[in-house]
Amino acid sequence: MKVIIADQINEKGIKELEDVADVVVNTSITQEELIKEIKDFDAIIVRSRTKVTRAVIEAAEKLKIIARAGVGVDNVDMAAATEKGIMVVNAPESTSITVAEHTMGLIMALIRKISIADKSVKEGRWEKSKFMGIELNGKTLGIIGLGRIGTQVSIRAKAFGMEILVYDPYVTEEAGAEIGVRVVDLEYLLKNSDVMTIHVPLTPETKHLISKKEFEMMKENAFIVNCARGGIINEDDLYEALKNNIIGGAGLDVFETEPPKDSPLLTLDNIVVTPHIAASTKEAQRDAAIIVANEVKKVFMGEAPKNVLNMPVLDPETFHAIKPYLKLSEKLANFLIQAAKGNITEVNITYCGELADFPRVDVISRTILKETLNSILTEPVNMINAPTIAKNRGIVITESKRSEAEGYKSLIKIEIKSDEGELSIEGNATREPRIVRIDKYWVNVKPEGTMVIARYKDIPGSIGTIGTKLGEHGINIAKMQVGRQAPSEEAVMVLTVDQKVPVDVIDEIRALEHVYDAVYVQL
Ligand code: NAD
Repeated sequence: MKVIIADQINEKGIKELEDVADVVVNTSITQEELIKEIKDFDAIIVRSRTKVTRAVIEAAEKLKIIARAGVGVDNVDMAAATEKGIMVVNAPESTSITVAEHTMGLIMALIRKISIADKSVKEGRWEKSKFMGIELNGKTLGIIGLGRIGTQVSIRAKAFGMEILVYDPYVTEEAGAEIGVRVVDLEYLLKNSDVMTIHVPLTPETKHLISKKEFEMMKENAFIVNCARGGIINEDDLYEALKNNIIGGAGLDVFETEPPKDSPLLTLDNIVVTPHIAASTKEAQRDAAIIVANEVKKVFMGEAPKNVLNMPVLDPETFHAIKPYLKLSEKLANFLIQAAKGNITEVNITYCGELADFPRVDVISRTILKETLNSILTEPVNMINAPTIAKNRGIVITESKRSEAEGYKSLIKIEIKSDEGELSIEGNATREPRIVRIDKYWVNVKPEGTMVIARYKDIPGSIGTIGTKLGEHGINIAKMQVGRQAPSEEAVMVLTVDQKVPVDVIDEIRALEHVYDAVYVQL
């Protein structure tokens, strides 16, 4: 396996990789050179300098993983990587402590007016009374977003003697209580905090989360810090709030536009700013290098990396619970794609019974799509690119859940629609994978080996003629399953046979009287 390290990363990360891979370090490689050379590599590690563009990704032939030794992946074309089925990983946990410490730094600078006092002394003044501050001890800190960084901030703030309020719709009161913080709604946090700090991602929900209305709810001398992403605070409204002393001060490491050239915010005394350096420490860089090197190593050893950004990753417990259904879903999808006819337009997946409550059935859906699309497309499809490829090809995918499972604990139903009709299959994996229904007919078939599936009119002699036809061609029937709704009507027969069945034999079966259709499936 070959890895290219295209930006400077800590030596420790490089050493980790040298045990398992052929490592090329070229930290001055240009875009053009990278486009030419990427075809030889299985992995690329970058920091910020190298842009892993669509052109680079399209030129790659063996690339399995793009690793960003840091948090943000703005320099990686995620859509292109996903379409090509290449994993993108980062090292989100590498900077948590570093950012939390910087947050505390900005808070201290604000409440003790450190940066303006520094400027004043350096300019030759000694204005002791001008820089009266406040203590953190006994004050309330409002943390917006209690993830990795928010949690580290809470630990540090408690050491300063602060009470902690948290607003995070994804954290329960119980989970908050376990680490000694009080989970409240945003309005309560804004009205009751002396200092607030933001640690949420920038999403449509969090864009301008803190605007005029929110500033007006805050205490008169409140301070707010943003070390997360520019755009979460509305900067025009922040300027008004600071200028009109609606709040006491703000500390920003991130801005809506970086650098924040000509921003009126920079003219104010009650703001402390840093140039997006909250994550910049030697330790964070070292940890990021070690973390991504280990992620690349895992991929080379056939294991699952944990920080994949373009694919769902399961924790070991969920994986264990879901594993039998992953195997079943592969079998069902393979069966269905061989038995269905025409160009697929729709794949509908239904999770029934206990399975409907599984937290991560999306992983099963991706498995079904991967198997289905791999059988009909020449381009390689994997768990990463399966949904995108389906979408690009106009195949509609639906996923639904039903508590009722027809007497089974759990069932997966897959229905394929094509320009020539529709076909569905249902399976259960309580003990071992089983096909339990084909269209409306209940069966009990082990999904393995070679099978002939025939639809026929259920009248005396029909089964015999199909068996005889196979016998004439020296094909031995190992097992037979019949599914029917009522005597003398259409029924389905699944014959597990010992030999491959040539196409012309299937045609001969189709031509038999009372046989409506026959297909051959190899699992
Ligand atoms: P994380 O994913 O561990 O935590 C984010 C938290 O935000 C989660 O607990 C989530 O439940 C919560 N959240 C999501 N949407 C929310 C909403 N609408 N309202 C309230 N809470 C919400 O992330 P993290 O590692 O703690 O990072 C937090 C932020 O810090 C990210 O935006 C990241 O990009 C940023 N960051 C900045 C720097 C920097 O250099 N300044 C460095 C690293 C991370």
